[in-house]
Amino acid sequence: MTTPGTSRCSDCGKPRAAVRLDDQVLCDGCADRWLASVTGWPELVPARTAEIIAGPDGRRHLIGYRIMRMPGGITAMAEEIGDDLAKGYRVELTEDHDGDPAALPDRLRAAVHSAIGHLYLRPDEWHGWGLAEDEVAGRLVEDVSGDGPPRVVIDGHLLSWEDLGRLLEPFGGWSFHLRLGAEPALRADHGAAAASPSPRPQASSAAGLVRSGQLSLPESRRLAQPPVRRWSGSARR
Ligand SMILES: [Zn+2]
Repeated sequence: MTTPGTSRCSDCGKPRAAVRLDDQVLCDGCADRWLASVTGWPELVPARTAEIIAGPDGRRHLIGYRIMRMPGGITAMAEEIGDDLAKGYRVELTEDHDGDPAALPDRLRAAVHSAIGHLYLRPDEWHGWGLAEDEVAGRLVEDVSGDGPPRVVIDGHLLSWEDLGRLLEPFGGWSFHLRLGAEPALRADHGAAAASPSPRPQASSAAGLVRSGQLSLPESRRLAQPPVRRWSGSARR
């Protein structure tokens, strides 16, 4: 059993290897090259470098980008890197294996900037949180004990199902529409800015981001712990 973050790629030795393939752990790039060789799919474009995005509420979000083939299709994932992977922002876009993934890195970056730039919650002196408008979106997270209702992550905050109920209390009597699996809304004029000036050429790695002052050391350590994804060695189209 390998702990994510302590694994180096079995093939190229890169740190942060997080794709489990039978008894090996590969980096996203080597895993993709292996998949391309056995399936005939073209190799994917590389993911963007991690960046820090400042939210309108003043919080800084360290966002790591990944692009990989999963059994159901190509997944482009932007994930907030923190101590607890259950909370924080996560945006995923998917594309068919036969589709053209060239635009995915830019679409993903726009989607996560848009998600961070729009707040559904506002502080509420009675309940802790209230809804800023008449709309809310986020993601569901499994209950830790496994037998309770799911928890929800909204604006990167982890809330219980009861918290969500309290958020909706003022709307008793309203109608609602809940659609699962929807892609994040893109709000062209609400995108959050990168926390630092545009990335400098040397900042192409976590070490580069630290050197250029865009990333603190604790943040760069968190960056070294991507969640492990699994592929079975017999994966075929
Ligand atoms: Zn590798």
